[in-house]
Amino acid sequence: MDNQKPLTTSTGAPVGDNQNSMTAGHRGPTLIQDYHLLEKLAHFNRERVPERVVHAKGAGAHGYFEVTKDISQYTKAAFLSEVGKRTPIFIRFSTVAGELGSADTVRDPRGFAVKFYTEEGNYDLVGNNTPVFFIRDAIKFPDFIHTQKRHPQTHLKNPNAVWDFWSLSPESLHQVTILMSDRGIPASLRHMHGFGSHTFKWVNAEGEAVWVKYHFKTEQGVKNMDVAVAARLAGEHPDYHTEDLFTAIDKGDFPAWKLYVQIMPVQDAETYRFDPFDVTKVWSQKDYPLIEVGRMVLDRNPENYFAEVEQVTLSPGNFVPGIEASPDKMLQGRIFAYADAHRYRVGANHNTLPINRPIAEVNNNQRDGAMRADGNGGSSIYYEPNSYGGASESPSHKPAPFAVSGLADSVPYDHNDHYTQAGDLYRLLSEEERLRLVANIVAAMTPVEKDEIKIRQIGHFYKADPEYGTRIAEGLGLPAPQGV
Ligand code: NDP
Repeated sequence: MDNQKPLTTSTGAPVGDNQNSMTAGHRGPTLIQDYHLLEKLAHFNRERVPERVVHAKGAGAHGYFEVTKDISQYTKAAFLSEVGKRTPIFIRFSTVAGELGSADTVRDPRGFAVKFYTEEGNYDLVGNNTPVFFIRDAIKFPDFIHTQKRHPQTHLKNPNAVWDFWSLSPESLHQVTILMSDRGIPASLRHMHGFGSHTFKWVNAEGEAVWVKYHFKTEQGVKNMDVAVAARLAGEHPDYHTEDLFTAIDKGDFPAWKLYVQIMPVQDAETYRFDPFDVTKVWSQKDYPLIEVGRMVLDRNPENYFAEVEQVTLSPGNFVPGIEASPDKMLQGRIFAYADAHRYRVGANHNTLPINRPIAEVNNNQRDGAMRADGNGGSSIYYEPNSYGGASESPSHKPAPFAVSGLADSVPYDHNDHYTQAGDLYRLLSEEERLRLVANIVAAMTPVEKDEIKIRQIGHFYKADPEYGTRIAEGLGLPAPQGV
């Protein structure tokens, strides 16, 4: 025992007794001068930061990204500039709707959020395991998430709200079909693809832009979980996916994904048959084939869950030169909302924490704020422009200018065909997959109280594919639409 290091208070003084609080006599009340006791209880009360409103339950890992194909004709991003170049990354996987302690094996999209620590700053690709999303305008996000969360009175999940909202927001149909398919419950976090989901802009060294979509394809193969197994594990082993990822990496079975992109010439966006900035739609791979970019490998577990997985702050607004935003209205809203969530949850200085700190030098003239632990810029110049040799702007790194047109107004997307792509997905499923999809939807919709909601939603499935809608109507014991 003598060679153990001494237990200390948070101010570094050795603790004499960590078993017995100090009392006034053997049976007397506890003394307020027992500062170690007060500190211990007070800090314990403050061990939590607010959990994320969405994506609360997560698992993360470190790794690297390596470029395998030359794509420098499309982007000047330094970390993508040459074959063989490696960039350290951190990934956070998550479920969306459940709380921090909720079960892993639920039917839910999975967050697939990658932080690339590049020499030009952190680049965050904050995607999901699905290529599309339920809505396409950030103004609907709080309402949508309310329907996924708990009822304000009963504190129960509420299928009425879920299907009421979806049936009144038919742009959700494509993602609902993916969610209710076998891929709605992955076998593990290693056995699913990842997608940037949004359209982004890549700009090359000549200032030429293209639109881009990201696809991470799992090298482990797509594997999904049987619904009965998932339900059992949700009770018996709610952290199943978290453990699977940690254990695989721990034993050297490093999961890997190949990164591909689809590239769309800027002018195609004017004429493509779907709005390429509508995140409820994919670009057909027949129109824009996958182009290989690189490979991501996860080879190191976090040392500390809270410091890394809980405090990592990923934001779709964290771009690097050569990668820019698109007019996708969900992306535009997320550029604000994610960083704002981190300022609220972790604090204004969240980017100075070790897990978020860029490897690139930071000279941002931001000073002070709660929990500034990194030296706060010391005595260096703290404003710009300046005549004292402080940091200055780099005009060559301005985002590429782009044209806009029209009136400022609250306008819907032009394209309202929410059915073709959901139907295409239904039609590419095998008969067994279709039957499971229909069974999953029927089970999820059965508790909905109002037939009006069910009938409205059946109409959407029917428009995607008459067989799809008819099978769900039959499963729910309701009439199928006639020739919608
Ligand atoms: P393609 O045949 O070129 O691509 C089909 C895509 O569907 C592949 O990426 C395939 O991924 C994926 N897929 C296969 N089975 C399932 C499933 N059960 N659940 C979800 N995805 C699956 O056709 P299109 O590009 O024209 O797309 C047709 C439909 O495929 C779309 O409407 C969309 O629903 C779906 N899809 C399209 C994607 C795209 O980027 N175009 C991406 C993912 C889905 P895998 O290689 O893993 O089998």
